Amino acid sequence: MNTELLQTPITYLKGVGPGRAELLRSELGINTYDDLLYHFPNRYIDKTRYYKIRELSRTESEVQIIGQLTEVKTIDQKVGKRLVAIFEDETGSMELVWFRGQKWIAKNLKLHQKYVIFGRVNWFNQRFSMPHPDMELLDEHEKGLRVAMQPVYPSTEKLSSRGITNRVLIKLIQQLFEETKKRFPETLTEDIKTSLGLINRSDALFYAHFPKNQQTLAKAKFRLKFEELFYIQLQLILKKLLRKQKIKGFPFEKVGIFFNSFYKDHLPFDLTKAQKRVLKEIRSDLGSQAQMNRLLQGDVGSGKTVVALMSMLLALDNDYQSCLMAPTEILATQHYNSIRQLIGSLGVTISLLTGSTKVRERKRIHSGLEDGSLNILIGTHAVLEDKVQFKNLGLAIVDEQHRFGVAQRSKLWHKNIIPPHILVMTATPIPRTLAMSLYGDLDNSVIDELPPGRKPVKTVHRKDSDRLKVFQFIREEILKGRQIYIVYPLIMESEALDYKDLMDGYESVVRDFPLPDYQISIVHGKMKTEDKDYEMKRFVEGQTQIMVATTVIEVGVNIPNASVMIIESAERFGLSQLHQLRGRVGRGADQSYCILMTGYKLTSEAQTRLETMVRTNDGFEIAEVDLRLRGPGDLMGTQQSGLLNLRIADLVKDNDILKTARHIAQKLLREDPHLEQEQNKVIAITYSRLMKQKDIWTYIS
Ligand code: ADP
Ligand code: MG
Repeated sequence: MNTELLQTPITYLKGVGPGRAELLRSELGINTYDDLLYHFPNRYIDKTRYYKIRELSRTESEVQIIGQLTEVKTIDQKVGKRLVAIFEDETGSMELVWFRGQKWIAKNLKLHQKYVIFGRVNWFNQRFSMPHPDMELLDEHEKGLRVAMQPVYPSTEKLSSRGITNRVLIKLIQQLFEETKKRFPETLTEDIKTSLGLINRSDALFYAHFPKNQQTLAKAKFRLKFEELFYIQLQLILKKLLRKQKIKGFPFEKVGIFFNSFYKDHLPFDLTKAQKRVLKEIRSDLGSQAQMNRLLQGDVGSGKTVVALMSMLLALDNDYQSCLMAPTEILATQHYNSIRQLIGSLGVTISLLTGSTKVRERKRIHSGLEDGSLNILIGTHAVLEDKVQFKNLGLAIVDEQHRFGVAQRSKLWHKNIIPPHILVMTATPIPRTLAMSLYGDLDNSVIDELPPGRKPVKTVHRKDSDRLKVFQFIREEILKGRQIYIVYPLIMESEALDYKDLMDGYESVVRDFPLPDYQISIVHGKMKTEDKDYEMKRFVEGQTQIMVATTVIEVGVNIPNASVMIIESAERFGLSQLHQLRGRVGRGADQSYCILMTGYKLTSEAQTRLETMVRTNDGFEIAEVDLRLRGPGDLMGTQQSGLLNLRIADLVKDNDILKTARHIAQKLLREDPHLEQEQNKVIAITYSRLMKQKDIWTYIS
């Protein structure tokens, strides 16, 4: 019953007319009672103390003072006006100042009446002042519910200048509790509540707004965060169970001649332990009745390609075709070449399909796929075109999935009536924290070990004044036969400036590394594709020693002889980008280096990024730092941000609660997979209500 009540539009709340409702909607996204109820304070202030003006010190932050207005005036400034009121108590006087919303405020101020003001004090012109104070007549103030910890709500300037101050928000929320009589339906079972010592939902919601003290606040938050994370986990786990039951895959029952003879006779190295483990995980998925949907994470150079190939050979052993899709032509071509080299004379048919595949070749590929004579297709988005039809696609592998949209991934599914097994490979590690909540419905494999003999890349941070030394170092490396990358940032907003930096940089490199001793390639986004490819090719073939480029140098490009990566203006790159770029070196037998060049002034965040890069080569550790610095929304891009719009929990800070929630959800579903038991009724009801309300879940898979 109360469930519907909470879906009531906010206009029905006493104190909210159409005007306020519109403001609440546009500024805070509050449409219903429920939205308001979940508009939690971001902090609380001690309102038990009243200051005297004489007591104020310059270090005071937020204070509450009782006094009255003796004068209100408007003062012209260079730009615009400001409204100033003189505020006095028995110990002194100070100024209250408004820069916005002056008309409305001036009209409402009452002279010579007792007010309680609250806000931050400034020391300015030998006098204390308070900009945009929260004000309440003393009478009203005494009538109102006064709590030791007063909530401060997230708000916007527009709201407060239109009269919806923090005080008004408090009143509205109090009104909401009054109208609903604080009777909110419970959403967790007694079992769960007792085992974790959780308070009731109604109490938790009330105390999250109006806590008695720190302790009740902590209890309230814990309860609400748990609940939120619990239902997300429940959803993810249920979804996975459902998929395993409903979506039948093609069982790859046997390990046959292709896989075995590749393993015995063609594999040029021993697989690492991690590669073996991951292959086992994949094999067990493929052998089961259910469709595989697996995420394969492995740092750059960890050897994902051979795992992909061996999975495709398993498909072939069971008479299925497979395809491998990469986000760019260069990458697809690279995969094609290295896989062709690996399979050698194994007798597997394999083709490359990209945007630039010629019509005749294309036709040949189409018919080979349709009659089944083509075993493996490697390509770009071109693979997704409707004209590309397989006879029996059994396995689809997607490399570097961050570049592909979710929609594209699902297109692969629809190439068959029965969806093929899907393996998504990514070199951008997803912090465990996020993987659990975002990809909880995918199975997860991790290659957490590099092939033996790799020397970790040595990373250093250098300032512009070290440039001569850096150039000297480059000369020495080139003398040893190595190749060098020099990368410049290219950020959309400042493209023209960045482009100039790149060209200036290029010219100075050309000056310091003159022909005929040195050959330099340059690649950037403004070049024609043919020119880019030409320059790239010269570098790949070792005809040039230095590659000057913007970040267009592709993720995944593999040139083992390139051993030095110089990143200019490194402070402007994000952590994952720095890590990706560094992954371009360290691919051969030689010691590799990554040199992060920056100016002198660095923000503390930039400093942290650089220190992290210097400290570690571990992509997962870097991803965790990145997550902490940027927050989950940014990290995953806007695509998934809907999912991450948590109302109270924080995926990073509340990781322990997340784990508990996952554990409890797993346990519950193990005991009652269909949520049919009487004691789990509240959960079944809440779950189906959440599913109906907002399907934020469409953001994943
Ligand atoms: P990524 O995971 O970045 O895609 P690749 O599959 O391109 O990595 O592998 C990087 C390099 O390591 C390739 O040259 C590959 O042949 C080599 N490699 C992969 N696995 C092993 C291994 N177990 N032992 C030695 N070299 C390996
Ligand atoms: Mg790769």
